[in-house]
Amino acid sequence: MYLGKCLCGEVSIRLNGSISDIIHCHCSLCRKNSGTAFATNGFINTADFEITSGKSSLSSFSFKPGRSRHFCSQCGSPVYSSNEDDPKRLRIRLGIIDSDIKERPISHNFVSSKANWEVLEADLPHYEGLEPNRK
Ligand SMILES: [Zn+2]
Ligand SMILES: [Zn+2]
Repeated sequence: MYLGKCLCGEVSIRLNGSISDIIHCHCSLCRKNSGTAFATNGFINTADFEITSGKSSLSSFSFKPGRSRHFCSQCGSPVYSSNEDDPKRLRIRLGIIDSDIKERPISHNFVSSKANWEVLEADLPHYEGLEPNRK
């Protein structure tokens, strides 16, 4: 089980399962949304995910039809993303989680969109888009 909360503490989450397909995403959407070089995201099962407090403080922004980013309206912390075409899974920002995370990132994605000032670490594979096995 993983616990997490936003920067101001208003929104708390609990994840009762594991996190899969963790990647560092360098796409321009993730860069702008995080305000930094990349976002580290992973899939979780919707059924395993609970907002334990502050649900009414969540706002969302739809960046493509059916795709929404949900964030704390008080502090702006990204909490999770949803995709209407894939309702059984959510995408979570690993930075929201306070617990030690067992799973590890598998790749750097959308590296051709990376900031020109960022130097990628060489240990993980680099992909021009999504990692090849993304379902
Ligand atoms: Zn907050
Ligand atoms: Zn991205």
